[in-house]
Amino acid sequence: MENIFRIAIDGPSGAGKSTIAKAVAKALNIDYIDTGAMYRAVGFKMNRDGVPFDADDPALEAMLANTDIDFVRGDIILDGEVVNDVIRTPEVSMLASQCSSLAPVREKLVEIQRGMGMRKSVIMDGRDIGTNVLKDAEFKIFLTASAEERASRRFKELQEKGETQTYEEVLEDIKQRDYNDMTRELNPLCKADDAIEVDTTGHGIEEVVDTVLDIIRNEE
Ligand code: C5P
Repeated sequence: MENIFRIAIDGPSGAGKSTIAKAVAKALNIDYIDTGAMYRAVGFKMNRDGVPFDADDPALEAMLANTDIDFVRGDIILDGEVVNDVIRTPEVSMLASQCSSLAPVREKLVEIQRGMGMRKSVIMDGRDIGTNVLKDAEFKIFLTASAEERASRRFKELQEKGETQTYEEVLEDIKQRDYNDMTRELNPLCKADDAIEVDTTGHGIEEVVDTVLDIIRNEE
């Protein structure tokens, strides 16, 4: 049997993790798991169903016990429905960031993520993959870029989708989410000691994908 290996990619919002991880997954013919999409799906469902953003509320526990999240051929499935698009709005970004600080939410999602990383070779991106979810991942990358560059990338994406946020609002959101992610008590965003940092500021997608592939090939 082929050896299973795991690649963890962490970093702040908008650093290009999902674009890079998808391309690396394709190049290596392994599965890509977008853990941010899982927090988005939970934040979306909590808001839709009026579940309080309170770790001690019994409604949260009940909801999580009845929540099923999976990836099928690149689609994220929440309770049997494809939710790729509804979870990509600026509102859901903020809801994801808020629900990600709740212990019951993290416990549930981390358990699912660890299960996904045990069965086959994967590249998983998020905030706590190298430090918590897949602590023993064979490869760890910490992807960064300046807040301004991350905001202008996100701003362009949102404009293409017809969203009306201004650049200043997008930059503010990015800074707010960085703050939330880095200061939360549970599994805050930080670089694992054994992760290799890749700064993508001023670098194109292909160049960064090649850098990551080189790191993986050289460490093998
Ligand atoms: O990566 P993305 O922007 O889609 O993630 C949405 C939110 O989910 C992040 O702002 C972060 O708060 C949370 N998240 C997390 N841990 C992860 C992945 C995402 O807390 N592993």
